[in-house]
Amino acid sequence: MYTPIGERFGKLVVMSEATKEERKSRHRKMHCICDCGKKTMTMLFTLKGGSARSCGCVAAEKAKERWKNPTKEMIEQRKLQGEKNKTHGMTKHTAFSQWADMKSRCTNKGHAWYKSYGGRGISLDNSWLTFEGFWADMEQLWVEGMQIDRIDNDKGYCKSNCKWSTRSQQQRNKSNTKFIDTPNGVMDITTASELYGVSAGCLRYRYEKGVRGLDLIKKSQRA
Ligand SMILES: [Zn+2]
Repeated sequence: MYTPIGERFGKLVVMSEATKEERKSRHRKMHCICDCGKKTMTMLFTLKGGSARSCGCVAAEKAKERWKNPTKEMIEQRKLQGEKNKTHGMTKHTAFSQWADMKSRCTNKGHAWYKSYGGRGISLDNSWLTFEGFWADMEQLWVEGMQIDRIDNDKGYCKSNCKWSTRSQQQRNKSNTKFIDTPNGVMDITTASELYGVSAGCLRYRYEKGVRGLDLIKKSQRA
C-alpha cells in the first residue's frame, strides 16, 4: 500500500499515517506538517489529487488579501452590510450625538463633566441606554437645532424630566441666578456651593423653586 511518508504536497510534508481511531473515517489520512509550522491531518486522496496544499493557512492568507484589496462587488456588499448594521440609521442625526454625550456624561467616569452629572447622581433612564429607547420617548417633541434639556436639574434624564430647548433658553436657565440669599448672607452660587458642599446646580434649582434658609443649604441625599 502506497504511503507517501516524507513526501511534499505544496506546503505539506507527510509525517506518518493516521490510525483508524484517529481518522474517524473510511478515508486514509496522513499526519502532515505545514511550512507554517502547524500540524494537520489530511486525507490522502486530497493530497494526491492536489486539492490539499497547506494546513489552511494559504486560504486564510488569501482571504486576508482579498479583504485588504476588495473587488468592486465586495465594496458594494460591505456598504449594504454597513447600512444594515446601523439599525436605526441615525448615527449622523444631531439628536444622536446629543444622546451619546448625555449618556457619556452620566455613565462614563472619563467624561470631562461626569462629576457634575453621573458623579452627583444624575442618572439616565434605563430605556435610554439605547438610542432607540431615547428616541422612542423624545422624537415627537424634537425640533432641529434644539438641545436636550432637563426640567429639574437635580433629577436625571428621563421622559418626564426632559424637554428640547434652544441653546439660548438653556443658557438662560443656567445663568438666571448668580447670587443667592443664604443663612450666611448673599453670596454667589459658586462660593455657596463650596461653603456648604452642595452643588451649584442644586443650589440654583432650589433657589429658583423658592427654597430658602437651611433647606436651601442642606446636603443633597445624592451628593
Ligand atoms: Zn500552514
